[in-house]
Amino acid sequence: MALTEFSLIQQYFAQQNHKNTSTCLGIGDDCALLSLPAGYQLAITTDTMVEGVHFFAGADPAQLGHKLLAVNLSDLASMGARPVSVTLALTLPTVDAKWLEAFSKGFLKLAEHYNVDLIGGDTTAGPLTLTVQALGLVPEHKALVRSTAKVGDLIYMTGALGDAGLGLKINLGYKCPQPDVALQRFNTPDPQIAVGLSLIDVASACVDISDGLAADLGHILGQSHVGACLDWECLPLSQAVQNYIDETGDCLMPLTAGDDYELCFTVSPDKIAQLHGNYTQIGIIESTPGLRLRKDGVVQALMSKGYEHFS
Ligand code: ADP
Ligand code: MG
Repeated sequence: MALTEFSLIQQYFAQQNHKNTSTCLGIGDDCALLSLPAGYQLAITTDTMVEGVHFFAGADPAQLGHKLLAVNLSDLASMGARPVSVTLALTLPTVDAKWLEAFSKGFLKLAEHYNVDLIGGDTTAGPLTLTVQALGLVPEHKALVRSTAKVGDLIYMTGALGDAGLGLKINLGYKCPQPDVALQRFNTPDPQIAVGLSLIDVASACVDISDGLAADLGHILGQSHVGACLDWECLPLSQAVQNYIDETGDCLMPLTAGDDYELCFTVSPDKIAQLHGNYTQIGIIESTPGLRLRKDGVVQALMSKGYEHFS
């Protein structure tokens, strides 16, 4: 039987029980209602994924559901916010029950993991376009912003660099002997929520690496009116990414490829002792504007341009 817009929402997206204590009213009315605790600010972010731009036509729907939510939660993580709920706007070319089943499972499984409620959205017909708005809570005036890095702060990042970029290359035909980690990082990234929360009162600035380290760190540098030098030898590269570089000579890939969804953050030297976690120090904030890379003893300027949709 053909699904109507209403029954589609009921069947795949309406949760019976809300898990988050902030949710007062979820899917089904004209608006959702949230109750926010005193002493917190609401962090709001939205990200869209368009077929053919952000993902390949025919991409696995369960992985798409996961990634769509993960990229939005990653923005909350980078501000030190705890996610509470999300809305989902779906534009679908057709109502494909199998696709919706897998997509909603991938989406809701990750939502459940982070105690996030799906509280509303919109469903329309058109070219496949997926939009999430994510809401989170952050203690008043404690959010990790981009504009407060200081000269002398050390630059750290979570995880490794370039695996998602390698995953994209593998999808485009690059032959990699051990593709599993790279494909997993590209298809189903993990938002660094716990790290973001732990960095409150510790990090001086933070971004998530969605458009490539050079571009995203560049946002911190621009908004903080500082520069930085990264150390090539310190960059956390997986064996597969190292092999890719050895084979192709493309050492800029891990610095410029997007989709890593790791956090890059700065910490003043007197707060290093408060940093507890498995992070890599990759460079230092300097007064000279711009981003530089020290490689084989030579310091060179690094372009901090990420992917731009209209260029
Ligand atoms: P309205 O016409 O008042 O905007 P809709 O008919 O679009 O309401 O949606 C009905 C209810 O279902 C609303 O509560 C809306 O938030 C929710 N909803 C619609 N689409 C989605 C979706 N893709 N995911 C989650 N909730 C949705
Ligand atoms: Mg509507």
